[in-house]
Amino acid sequence: MSGHEQDNFDAKPSPGEESSPVETDGPIDPVDLIVGIDLGTTNSLVAVADARGPRVLRLGERLAGDDQEDDQEDLVPSVIRYAGEVVEAVGAAAAADLKIHPTRTVFSVKRFMGRSYADRRKEASVVPYSVVEGPRGLASVEIDGVIRTPQQISADLLSHLRDQASAALGQAVKRAVITVPAYFDDGQRQATRDAGRLAGLEVVRILNEPTAAALAYGIGSRGAAETIVIYDLGGGTFDVTVLEVMPPDPDDAEGESIFRVLATSGDSHLGGDDFDRVLIRDLIDEAIAGGDGTDRARRLAILREVGARAKIALSEADATRLVLDGSGVLPDVDRVLTRAAFEEAARPLVDRTLDACRRAVKDAGLEISKIDRVVLVGGSTRMPMIREAVEQWFGSPGYVALDPDRVIALGAAVQGSILAGVRRDALLLDVIPLSLGLETAGGAVAKLVVRNTMVPTKAVEMFSTSVDGQVNVALHVVQGEREMVADCRSLARFELRGLPPMPAGIPQIEVTFNVDANGVLGVEAVERRSGRRARVQVVPSNGLTREEVAQIEADSYTHAREDMLVHRVVDLAVNAALDVKWIQEALARVRDVLPASTTESVESHLAIVEEFIASARKDPRSVDADAFHAAKESLDKASMPVHEAAITRSLRGDGTEAS
Ligand code: ADP
Ligand code: MG
Repeated sequence: MSGHEQDNFDAKPSPGEESSPVETDGPIDPVDLIVGIDLGTTNSLVAVADARGPRVLRLGERLAGDDQEDDQEDLVPSVIRYAGEVVEAVGAAAAADLKIHPTRTVFSVKRFMGRSYADRRKEASVVPYSVVEGPRGLASVEIDGVIRTPQQISADLLSHLRDQASAALGQAVKRAVITVPAYFDDGQRQATRDAGRLAGLEVVRILNEPTAAALAYGIGSRGAAETIVIYDLGGGTFDVTVLEVMPPDPDDAEGESIFRVLATSGDSHLGGDDFDRVLIRDLIDEAIAGGDGTDRARRLAILREVGARAKIALSEADATRLVLDGSGVLPDVDRVLTRAAFEEAARPLVDRTLDACRRAVKDAGLEISKIDRVVLVGGSTRMPMIREAVEQWFGSPGYVALDPDRVIALGAAVQGSILAGVRRDALLLDVIPLSLGLETAGGAVAKLVVRNTMVPTKAVEMFSTSVDGQVNVALHVVQGEREMVADCRSLARFELRGLPPMPAGIPQIEVTFNVDANGVLGVEAVERRSGRRARVQVVPSNGLTREEVAQIEADSYTHAREDMLVHRVVDLAVNAALDVKWIQEALARVRDVLPASTTESVESHLAIVEEFIASARKDPRSVDADAFHAAKESLDKASMPVHEAAITRSLRGDGTEAS
């Protein structure tokens, strides 16, 4: 293992300012602007791409009392409520009141897109709103006597997305790439096009969702052809696609990568909703017994909400509480759910997704070993059991670096920028544009992969803890050329949990950085003794432009000397703190056998070094590294008699030994 054996983690990384990627949705040339829209069964999103790469737009105002996470604002529930001729609510507002207006609120309309009523009769019987035979035999929705086709309803959703996106960007959105499942037939694709047109959008391309996922990761933009699997577990559907991706012809300047669907499989009735149901199975029976249809729909909607919330909590925690105030119409419930029990109960659902994977790979005429990688898509792939099952089945971890519920929209935006002729993702490079490293004690950076390294590449280093008995270690992955975390870009944070308590410096934490050919970085930390492990995946080039990379490089030269000194001071402070601790402990044991003059001398040296440590922790730039170093050396010299006395005492074993 390499050099940084002495490097320590901070128990808690310093709260140094993060240089996070710019979040503003600044204007793009209006002529060029083509947005990407993921028109999902459960959620819809809009994204754009420019030199900084693709980003999802934050749409709309949050609801009052809305307890959604901040980062969920960009997902718009594909839910809409009508009152006669008018649209009464769209998105989160409509979803929130679904249980109040079950018969006037339309969700999952994508299931009916471009299909005949005859074809969808069974589907129609399970939704609380009324599905009827509409024009040209199409499955249509009737509310308050008004009949609308799925494309009209989708158009209302798209109009909302278009308006919100225009407001977010500060310019009118007119052109869009809209995604559809790979299995959509011509009728369903045409219905999606019509919906866009009705919403006043020029639909420049209908794009397959798995192709969008590949584009978002830059798969097939260079190098060799790849065969990939897209595993997409959404709210109500599971789709698996085997895709062959070929890089563009290098002689063709306008060339686009070629994406060929080799096989698709899946289950149109298997998704996150089924996992919700696993958690509330027994309660559902009570909810559907008795009452009229509307009552029943209301009770089911309430149950689904609590089930979904508990499920999402279990993606993060080992256990959660399910609390339901039945208010007389449903039982009052307060129970603890564990992830382990949930995973066992949901196992048959997971196995059904793997069965579909098996069929798809077989239909593509391939062996699993011929699959280069798996991309995870859809909110439900956040569940650890899904990630583990996929990794086990395919033999390698799936791509999760891009948010699984945003990756389709991001890819659609990339396609939009290619069609608009905007130079796409400028940072698809064969080398790592900025160094990759890990925060160490005191806010310094240990670089594991230096800039300009060819991809793929791998680096391993050993680290340890800096506090006695540390059971959780925070890891902070950063990117940049400077020596201190505060001057670098934060890429990801994760935690290695549940270490057995050990003295500082004893745990052996092996950290591996693995950058693959597509520039996706996987970081894994393993504590050797306990075998505890944790990992994270990111795309380091996300949100970076060429100009920024050049600027970061220039800054590193300007600050090179200052940075080197600061790093030295931080390292000195870490090492000196350990010295001080040892010397103080030894001194306490042997004080009685030392002459007072020695004790006093050691104590005054300790005081000087402690002052340096305190200043270094406050502001390492204010500390003279040479003076600090000299003070530490004199402390070491002055404390020799202490160490000698301590060794003599422990050799004699005269009982006063502290431990
Ligand atoms: P769709 O493609 O059907 O529009 P999404 O990809 O947006 O759907 O996925 C929605 C589903 O993801 C819902 O069932 C939701 O409960 C689930 N989901 C979202 N976040 C999590 C999470 N952290 N853990 C488990 N499931 C999640
Ligand atoms: Mg989806």
